Amino acid sequence: MINAWLDLVHGGGCVGCALPGRSLCRACRNDLPRRANAVRPTPCPDGLAACFAAGEYDGLLRAMILSHKEHGTFSLATPLGRVLAQAVRAAIDPHVPTVLIPVPSRAAVVRTRGHAPVLRMTRAAARRLRGGGHRVSVIELLEQRGEVHDQAGLSAGKRSANLTGSMAVRPTARAALARTDLLLSLVLCDDVLTTGATAREAQRALEDSGLRVRAVTTVAATRKRVIPPERALPLSGSAD
Ligand SMILES: [Zn+2]
Repeated sequence: MINAWLDLVHGGGCVGCALPGRSLCRACRNDLPRRANAVRPTPCPDGLAACFAAGEYDGLLRAMILSHKEHGTFSLATPLGRVLAQAVRAAIDPHVPTVLIPVPSRAAVVRTRGHAPVLRMTRAAARRLRGGGHRVSVIELLEQRGEVHDQAGLSAGKRSANLTGSMAVRPTARAALARTDLLLSLVLCDDVLTTGATAREAQRALEDSGLRVRAVTTVAATRKRVIPPERALPLSGSAD
């Protein structure tokens, strides 16, 4: 349904309120989160680095992320980057140079959608942070290895099994990083934190290459809603 709705408003106005004109109107822009919080998936994958998100994956943020990712509404990259920058700011030590590492999109996604949405918003976040005096750069350290099945509808355990070994560090980027003699802080960037399985796999690939991850930062995080299985069935008439 959200896709049909996005089709309706895409190109024709604000993704938040459908006001004709810009893809994000001034009022909705002013509604964007101004600070980020530490978040944690439940259950949390073992050893996952500290996570920070600027808001909940709902409403305006969800509409912006989907429109940018699915419909290539590139004008949303800058406001999304601004929101992501809040999460990065909450995660970093401002005195230490920081490298933002976008979590890579699946190759099939990049092919069919024609862009790498997380890379685009990570670059926008870095511009925002540099404008505020932070020493931040973006390095595409990670790549997808082979094809991964769509994650939607998989449980946390199945997501993790589906993903293990799916990411690797790009050797040329790793070599370039090794040549810098600065003590850099590495921060992962993604659009949404759900179960943490994707972030954990990205972290594993970096750690296997001898790199420590300071934090995982995302625009939004899903709120864990625990629904008892019998309640999840629509009106069976037997329970309660
Ligand atoms: Zn609006």
